[in-house]
Amino acid sequence: MSPDLIDSSLLDIGLALSQKKVSSVELTQMALARASANASLNAFISLDADASLAQARQADARIAKGEAGPLTGIPIAHKDIYTTRAFRSTAGSRMLLDYVSPFDATVVEKLGFGPLQSDGEGAGMVTLGKANCDEFAMGSSNENSYFGPVCNPWDEKAVPGGTSGGSAAIVAARIAPCATGTDTGGSIRQPAAFCGVTGVKPTYGRVSRYGMIAFASSLDQGGPIAKSAEDCALLLNAMAGFDERDSTSVERVSEDFTAAMALPLDGLVIGLPRQYFGQGVAPGVERAVRAALSEYEKLGARLVDIDLPHTELSIPAYYVIAPAEASSNLSRFDGVRYGHRSADFNDLASLYSRTRAEGFGWEVKRRILIGTYVLSRGYYDAYYLKAQRIRRLIANDFQRALGACDVIMAPVAPTVAWDIGEKSHDPVASYLADIFTLSVSLAGLPGLSIPCGFGEKARPVGLQLIGNYFSEAKLLGIAHQFQLATDWHQRAPKGRS
Ligand code: GLN
Repeated sequence: MSPDLIDSSLLDIGLALSQKKVSSVELTQMALARASANASLNAFISLDADASLAQARQADARIAKGEAGPLTGIPIAHKDIYTTRAFRSTAGSRMLLDYVSPFDATVVEKLGFGPLQSDGEGAGMVTLGKANCDEFAMGSSNENSYFGPVCNPWDEKAVPGGTSGGSAAIVAARIAPCATGTDTGGSIRQPAAFCGVTGVKPTYGRVSRYGMIAFASSLDQGGPIAKSAEDCALLLNAMAGFDERDSTSVERVSEDFTAAMALPLDGLVIGLPRQYFGQGVAPGVERAVRAALSEYEKLGARLVDIDLPHTELSIPAYYVIAPAEASSNLSRFDGVRYGHRSADFNDLASLYSRTRAEGFGWEVKRRILIGTYVLSRGYYDAYYLKAQRIRRLIANDFQRALGACDVIMAPVAPTVAWDIGEKSHDPVASYLADIFTLSVSLAGLPGLSIPCGFGEKARPVGLQLIGNYFSEAKLLGIAHQFQLATDWHQRAPKGRS
């Protein structure tokens, strides 16, 4: 990004492009230069200047013809869980080290140049590269990537959060103005919080999963990461929509996610779940979240206490359901069809086992073991079915709570970003850190993370906004009003060029 456009909104960058103050090729070159200047973050798995610049030229041609949309020509990084034809798609795994997909994910098509890479289709954004992520989107700190951990731009000793850690770090370091992420149990909201940027996990079914390499299909949902709620709304306008290639895509009339940006907050009732405050929440996190809530009161909102009594059960329920689905989804990686194949096998069984032993990392193997165990005969009822019942109770909790308030607010995570290596030998410790994001995913609800200050070690804190199904526009409006009154979302880590 050019120095003065680094901190600009997507609307302003779009304006600069349409007024020909800058070209997409120039913007892309500047973003590529920032990517290499910030290489120590390890935020990208793949960069390919020729591929990005070819797209930028296509965008410039569209702008020259007067056919540009608001996002045309703006660089975006895609989490490396989305398939792309122009870049390899690894899912952060050795299993897909050299895998080049024959098709683009729907999200990539919609944000880019459509199914045929043709003129006039898609939003015309330029793929800047593929963002580092935890292997198959399993993790909470981006330390499970085959390509190494990503560093937090605010403090390179800290994790950026996971699993869309590369995406969040890219936006925080102002390498690109926006990125895509995916959220199965918190992977957009938590890295957005840890890196001081804004992220949206839409209602399940809003954004097509086609071409999103599957982790847990009943939970996976794509969404945007950017500097502000307004930017996220613009991105969601381009990303969301029915897709017949995804059987769980929801068919609804298309919506303008910027529609509620100007709505005042007078009389807004904010529900504060008792279970999300107090014990276990770091004092610096609680302080920043409470200060944000006071800001909302000044804007005319009223705070009420609510109960989400099954919150604690979200961890065991999620860590049964997600691995169960993962074990099934990952069975396709067998060394026969595509991806890594062991060089060292003598029959079909050893082809399977050696390929999978070499291709998958420890966390992925752990999930496959848990998943196959809870789905096995004799344990299915005791674990998997019981977890599904808990999932229903959690969804019911939210419906009851949302009857008494307009929006739920809470911390995104109980702590700020931890140090790289701090939890990597204790998987359960990082599972516990997901406590405030998992239940929203289990219920399929939309959730937002917006920066609201700094906590321990001067690391960013995120405020989570949770609403009812398909209330993204309302949530984005509520977030936008906060961002009009505060400047947390405009803060960027110092000293990054
Ligand atoms: N931390 C959770 C997990 O490891 C969530 C990850 C995600 O949302 N993709 O499964």
